[in-house]
Amino acid sequence: MRSVETFWDLQSEATEWRRYLHQNPELGYRLHSTAQFVANKLASFGINHIETGIAETGIVASIQGGGGDGPTIGLRADMDALPIMEASNKPWSSTIPGKMHACGHDGHTAMLLGAAKYLAKTRNFKGSVALIFQPAEEDGQGGQRMVQEGMMDRFGISQVFGMHIRPGIEVGKFLTCDGPNAAALDEFDIVVKGRGGHAAQPHRTIDPIVVAAQIIVGLQTLVSRNTDPMESLVISVTKLNAGTAYNIVPECAELAGTVRTLLPSLRNFAERQIQACAQGIARGFGAEIEFRHRRLEPVMFNHFEETNLAIKAARSLVGSESVSDKMIPSMGAEDFAYMLEARPGSYIRLGNGPTASLHHPAFDFNDEALPYGIGYWVNLVETALAV
Ligand SMILES: [Zn+2]
Ligand SMILES: [Zn+2]
Repeated sequence: MRSVETFWDLQSEATEWRRYLHQNPELGYRLHSTAQFVANKLASFGINHIETGIAETGIVASIQGGGGDGPTIGLRADMDALPIMEASNKPWSSTIPGKMHACGHDGHTAMLLGAAKYLAKTRNFKGSVALIFQPAEEDGQGGQRMVQEGMMDRFGISQVFGMHIRPGIEVGKFLTCDGPNAAALDEFDIVVKGRGGHAAQPHRTIDPIVVAAQIIVGLQTLVSRNTDPMESLVISVTKLNAGTAYNIVPECAELAGTVRTLLPSLRNFAERQIQACAQGIARGFGAEIEFRHRRLEPVMFNHFEETNLAIKAARSLVGSESVSDKMIPSMGAEDFAYMLEARPGSYIRLGNGPTASLHHPAFDFNDEALPYGIGYWVNLVETALAV
């Protein structure tokens, strides 16, 4: 088990990689130059089992330990950026207008590369490590596709681990908890169908804008009046479209929104009740609705045993007091959830310091965090696959 000082050596090189990735962000599954960069680095570390093109631009590379036979554990980093115009004013800002690494995936990739370089050299573990570089975390469910394309079986992965940077937490501090860790994500669309007409004769119309407004207010009560205050449900209406002119009552109004839950029972409740609430309100006004609901990411569930391993690895790096096992689950979603459905594992957060929040145009990954992330991966491997 190594303390973080062991990994200072790798910081300047990992910083170069991180800033290169930051300057050259790519989106979704179209990570061709990012994937090329990652594959080239892995090959330069002497890793010869590298499979590219999983879920289009994903990569899995495996490093065999020097300590004999054993299981394979997966370590996952995401590589995709966001469609945001960068405003960090850093010298290494994005060179591609309208795209930026605002979620730290440039840093996640650089940390896993740093760990790859170290592990390929030292190989002080038994079994194997599968390094998973994933596309399309933000909006494409790349994690699910990698699982569907058979990555877990092909590489014989028995446990899988993930990590994300978190602003507002000191660099060098880690946070996690077992059980639900990030929320399930669902989306809904509601089309309110009224009767259009002249805005000066509202009594001859069924105004879908007024109905939509009532539905938006009604949905708030599913959280405030129908959900146990000790349980977590988020319902946000995030889109509202209706109308074309000052003097026309339109035929239709369209709403859309997102639902976040940590419990299957609340997820089912929300799906049922959003529809029932919207339908009931619309009918009360003589309107009808069309309702569509999609289940996207599942709850991200940290398994008990693997979370203990993760905590042990982090504590050996930075000391007990810098690792909290009492993280409050996030209502954000994370598609690493699909990998944790496929295999037991755990996901941890690492402090990024007092920076702008994730997905903000001024966000930048903090390069001071690199040795901590690299060291966490190495200690985790040497703990889970101890010789
Ligand atoms: Zn993100
Ligand atoms: Zn992210």
